[in-house]
Amino acid sequence: MKIEILAVGSELLSPFFQDTNSLYLTRRLNDLGLDVTRKTVVGDDFEELSGAIRAAAAGSDLVLIMGGLGPTGDDITREACAEALGRPLVFKEELLVRIEERFKRRGKVMPPSNRTQANLLEGAEVLQNDNGTASGQWLLYGKTRLALLPGPPRELKPMFEAAVWPKLQDWRKGATKRLAFKITGLTESEVEGRIADLYPKIPELRLTILSSPGQIEIHLTSFGEEGAGGAAAALEILGGEIGRRLGDHVFSSAGEELEEVVGRLLGEGRRTLATAESCSGGLLAGRITNVSGSSAYFLEGFITYSNRAKSARLGVSEDLILARGAVSPEVARAMAMGVRIQSGADYGLAVTGIAGPTGRTPEKPVGLVYTALAWDGGEDVRRNLFLGGREPVKFQSAQKALDMLRRRLIGAGTI
Ligand code: ATP
Repeated sequence: MKIEILAVGSELLSPFFQDTNSLYLTRRLNDLGLDVTRKTVVGDDFEELSGAIRAAAAGSDLVLIMGGLGPTGDDITREACAEALGRPLVFKEELLVRIEERFKRRGKVMPPSNRTQANLLEGAEVLQNDNGTASGQWLLYGKTRLALLPGPPRELKPMFEAAVWPKLQDWRKGATKRLAFKITGLTESEVEGRIADLYPKIPELRLTILSSPGQIEIHLTSFGEEGAGGAAAALEILGGEIGRRLGDHVFSSAGEELEEVVGRLLGEGRRTLATAESCSGGLLAGRITNVSGSSAYFLEGFITYSNRAKSARLGVSEDLILARGAVSPEVARAMAMGVRIQSGADYGLAVTGIAGPTGRTPEKPVGLVYTALAWDGGEDVRRNLFLGGREPVKFQSAQKALDMLRRRLIGAGTI
């Protein structure tokens, strides 16, 4: 089964636009147990496009082409398809009526250029577009099936779901089941090391590791019928074993983000939180408040970027900052304790570090970040050395701070 996706549009070859449609289509095809064989981006060039369509149609079982179905001169997908497949375009009066009505409903007259959108490849089936004027098309060419879909995601997605998805069901490789583990506090190689011998050996069961700074995800997918001995049952067993091996490094197996998990735990325990941030610049508080209902447990957050602010807002001693430096375990601890006392929260979380690329010293390299947690009767400070640019360092700082709190809330040991 060979599947090719062809994204059309010169803007997709610029540095300003991304072909996100193909990610969406790939995910939906994967849901059926189908893999994409090849993905191509072609500009609005007639020769290039017709050549790409001809090659794709010759070698694939399914070709999904998107973009270039608009009314303007650079929308050439219909014509390029006609040329590539040797299929004439046929003008369809009923399509024109639909387009005219769409304009009329908005109190407008259809510009003449939209007439081209009433052209259908000979033998093609119309895929109705409820969100735009560009109809999609579905046709059989030899044993290859082709779909022409509009470029705008808000048009493509509903059309794909309503008109293409049902046509693909014959290819479905049984029912799909998914499990996803989100992990923090381990590197990718540490995760691999713990589960390497569990990699599934049957094609109906798939394991993918997605790694980004501060977070690793393991995605498990099974294709096949339910019931004992089937791939779905094997997925449950594999998931159970992975969960055991990674233990409390797994912060979610239900799709939640770390800030959601922390928010849920704080809510369940009726505990409150306040934050004090230096190098993460508010990212920690931003992530916490991205969660709906966070006002129930998040009291306030300070961005104390300067030394003066650390003293004035959090009561960190100026002498301590002078003696130890703003990026030090002592100041991190004082920030966490200070914000806890100032706010009256149950927990105070603090971050201070060097996000870079400037500001380093021989003793304090870029990526050196102290994260601290204070609670009633104690506090904990961690020294971290994060890699990556400014943004990854900030993300990992917030991630580590959140994970320190999560571990405390579930009674796990510190790492
Ligand atoms: P329209 O009727 O709106 O002109 P169209 O089929 O001609 O539809 P295009 O003109 O190719 O679509 O693209 C319109 C817009 O849709 C693009 O500017 C872009 O923002 C978005 N788009 C196109 N292709 C993609 C893609 N592969 N992924 C994400 N967005 C896309």
